[in-house]
Amino acid sequence: MKKPKIFWFRRDFRLHDHPGLTAILEDGAPLVPIFILDPQTRELGAAHTWRLGKGLEVLADRLREVGSRLILRKGDVMSVLRALIAETGAAEVHWSRTYDPQGIARDTAVKSALERDGVRAQGHSGHVLFEPWTVETGQGSFYKVYTPFWNAVRTRDPGALLPAPTALPTPEAWPKSDMLSAWNLGAAMNRGAAVVARFARVGEAEAAHRLHQFVDTRIDTYSANRDRLDHDGTSGLSENLAFGEISPRQCWQAGMDARVRGAQGAETFLKELVWRDFAYHLLYHTPEITTRNWRAEWDGFPWAGPNPLATAWMQGRTGEPVIDAAMRQLYVTGTMHNRARMLVASYLTKHLMTDWRVGQNWFADCLIDWDPASNAMGWQWAAGSGPDAAPFFRIFNPATQAEKFDPNEGYRARFIAEGRKNPHADALLYFDAVPKSWGLRPDNTYPQPLVDLKAGREAALTAYKAHRANDAA
Ligand code: FAD
Repeated sequence: MKKPKIFWFRRDFRLHDHPGLTAILEDGAPLVPIFILDPQTRELGAAHTWRLGKGLEVLADRLREVGSRLILRKGDVMSVLRALIAETGAAEVHWSRTYDPQGIARDTAVKSALERDGVRAQGHSGHVLFEPWTVETGQGSFYKVYTPFWNAVRTRDPGALLPAPTALPTPEAWPKSDMLSAWNLGAAMNRGAAVVARFARVGEAEAAHRLHQFVDTRIDTYSANRDRLDHDGTSGLSENLAFGEISPRQCWQAGMDARVRGAQGAETFLKELVWRDFAYHLLYHTPEITTRNWRAEWDGFPWAGPNPLATAWMQGRTGEPVIDAAMRQLYVTGTMHNRARMLVASYLTKHLMTDWRVGQNWFADCLIDWDPASNAMGWQWAAGSGPDAAPFFRIFNPATQAEKFDPNEGYRARFIAEGRKNPHADALLYFDAVPKSWGLRPDNTYPQPLVDLKAGREAALTAYKAHRANDAA
């Protein structure tokens, strides 16, 4: 009997198009799938951790369908792996790569330690279309601007899709596993879990269904509708991509097929997938993007830290209807429309002059589709401190943006209850989801605007000019 191999699942909760799993199965050795609740995973935000638990539940079912199991263990990764290797006699450990700095540091240390123990350790591709170090400028450097990055990859082949295994070889005896319910991954969500659960679509079957539905019914109008807040015009796949319940390559292939049949929005969809890859490219080459101004000239800009105005923003109580609708969409559904993300990020960092990291952290706590690369890039883009940045003086006006992208007020009516005779069911869900301690009720009076839009814009521009002048002096 061949020695077992361990596959360590992290953000790759699927069997289809899974390069790591395909590689490990080549010689038919028994497979021990594991998920480890390590200290790094414990630090994830409340909604994302809840969603992780849901994803694990479905992954475990999926593995059972092919005759296998998902072993759950918690603790420091090396201690868990060493114990499992001792119990099973495993000779190899494999995983799919992640590209955040903490993950890279952890995996590098794990690889060295395992190899010192005489155990083969191997990371695999699959989380992005193109490994970040394989896309280079003519000068051998990394890309700092999206359009040339797109031009560099648009005709590149990310490789053929890999079939899902129909049966997985099992070890002679299964090692013990924790009970998922004992991990209580939804604990920090409190009342929010039951609400967000209505909107989440968990697992690889749901993800594939979502992709097919999008390609069958919405991709043709994607370019025209993707910015409309009141339309269900996008794929909704970010939560599945975040957990690897679908591979970016499956999405890419579907987009390419749609393009061949002449679907209008296919090219735009492919471009959006490449924005995700670009975010990982930046994260890999400039890991400080998650914590520091990508453009150092922003250091010292007088952004405020956590403050009462930012708290009102988090609670969807700024008095600016499109901003509040978006922040409530986040709380109720665990996601937010892309255009709305840009608006709330601009409003927080410019009208409220609050540090982008305050918003980044709130998103990390509330998003089920939280992604370290896209979240950091999105926030720095909106703040003006990032690559490919919208210049600081481009300050979105929420009112005119709402007129343009929510012309019939459908989005605002969907998420704001106060002052409406028959509030939308989703608007009411907000009050079921938020902590009771916030003291919010649908029959409250809708708040007055926190800032006058014109005055807020002027104040931000004045601060910007003063900072620039200081910098130049
Ligand atoms: P679609 O329009 O159907 O696009 C298909 C896929 O392309 C998406 O699922 C996503 O993987 C990728 N994509 C689309 N737009 C972008 C973009 N602007 N940047 C990077 N990738 C993109 N996305 C996350 O997945 N997680 C985050 O934590 C996240 N935080 C963000 C924070 C801010 C401030 C901003 C401005 C954007 C953020 N985004 C984030 C990007 C984007 O808003 C979401 O990916 C998008 O709303 C997901 O909806 P969808 O799946 O229907 O996208």
